[in-house]
Amino acid sequence: MREPGADVKYNIKDDDIIKGASFLTDDKIANVINEVIKNETGAKLRAYVDTCVHCGLCSEACHFYLSHDNDPAYSPAGKVKQTMGEMLKKNGNVGVEAIQRMSEIASTECNVCKRCSMFCPFGIDIAYIMLVVRRICNKLGISPKYIQDTENSHAATMNQMWVKEDEWVDTLQWQEEEAQGEIPTVRIPLEKEGAEIMYSVIGPEPKFRAQLIYQAAVIHKAAGVDWTMPATPGWDNSDMAMYTGNNEIMGRVKKAHYEAAMRLKVKKIVMGECGHAFRSVYDMGNRWLGWKMPPIPMIHAIEFYADLIRDGKLKIKKKYEPPVTLHDPCNVVRGRGLHEKARYIVSQTCENFIEMTPNREHNYCCSAGGGVINCGPPYTKTRVEGNKVKAEQLFRTKTKGAKTIIAPCHNCHGGIEDIVEYNGLHMDIKFFGDILYEIIEKPE
Ligand code: SF4
Ligand code: SF4
Ligand code: SF4
Repeated sequence: MREPGADVKYNIKDDDIIKGASFLTDDKIANVINEVIKNETGAKLRAYVDTCVHCGLCSEACHFYLSHDNDPAYSPAGKVKQTMGEMLKKNGNVGVEAIQRMSEIASTECNVCKRCSMFCPFGIDIAYIMLVVRRICNKLGISPKYIQDTENSHAATMNQMWVKEDEWVDTLQWQEEEAQGEIPTVRIPLEKEGAEIMYSVIGPEPKFRAQLIYQAAVIHKAAGVDWTMPATPGWDNSDMAMYTGNNEIMGRVKKAHYEAAMRLKVKKIVMGECGHAFRSVYDMGNRWLGWKMPPIPMIHAIEFYADLIRDGKLKIKKKYEPPVTLHDPCNVVRGRGLHEKARYIVSQTCENFIEMTPNREHNYCCSAGGGVINCGPPYTKTRVEGNKVKAEQLFRTKTKGAKTIIAPCHNCHGGIEDIVEYNGLHMDIKFFGDILYEIIEKPE
């Protein structure tokens, strides 16, 4: 087998990586690499890299490897070898040309989806290693351009999409008025102190998918939920700084989110249908801030909807008829084990369900996650062509009759949309919220 990446020509596509690299020197690169490895990683990182016996069992788990004709450069261990492996072997002296390619590998050729870790006999956490590489590149100023912009937005506005405070409130009022056109008593309660739940969404919802907030308001009204949303920064639960590796900004964003809920004195936070946002509040952001668990109870929309249905709070008028399949998002399935609750919702709301294979914790990532879709247009084609296995998986499910894909995660949604369109699969993609809104008994 050839060395991973041995014959790869560097063809860096990203303006910010190229520009950032023009300010770098070999010494600066070595200093930052050694500083991060020495001060932030401890024995865990070196143990992971040294323990790998290059058995290749993780390769078949990675959609990038499978979609690139089993090219070892795209295998999980191959990606480690080309990045952190080189950094350790050369004591940080990797040079300007190589560090640019390392940034692209870690940020755009790995979704940090953790599927490979399930197949490694030692449980080596490749995603963690890739996140350390991203952090080093971020500190060196060579993160990919588009995701860097989302990090800048988080830092300046506490949301991902440069949404100003008045625009956020205006959007909620607009959606409330729209919803009242259908059901006059629907409200989007802002700043209601002592409400049962704070409902939180990701930045792209008010920007591009405001109808989801309208739908949530109708579902909450139908179920009699006592809810609120904050009018201040802290409403956005997403966190692309977690994926650029700027942990300091990740921590600030999460702190603002928890503090909004505490100020409103709610009993818990319910998050919309997003996978990475859940990882940021439930796994990475809280730990960075020193909490093993979030400082306030927090559940994902899948748990919330499953409970509302189980408790009889949502009545189903007529089940959704077109045959559906379900994409298990890594961050809430491998990360939180919500696969059976998701299937419970499907069983209660849909007439026909066709499993895609593999499924549950073994499902393939959509290839958008881990911030890869946020790296933007320079990588769209690479991302979509780099996930042939997902296209094949969806095609197999379609041939069994599935017409609608339920994807309860924003990034999965976007990634699968691109795959469906690029491969001419002609399947609908929906959130659970879309299905519920369509089929529940609505109040007068
Ligand atoms: S974390 Fe996911 S994308 Fe990254 S190497 Fe492992 S399987 Fe591949
Ligand atoms: S399965 Fe584990 S030990 Fe084997 S190559 Fe992959 S990371 Fe290394
Ligand atoms: S986008 Fe979805 S499938 Fe991809 S890593 Fe995130 S949760 Fe997993």
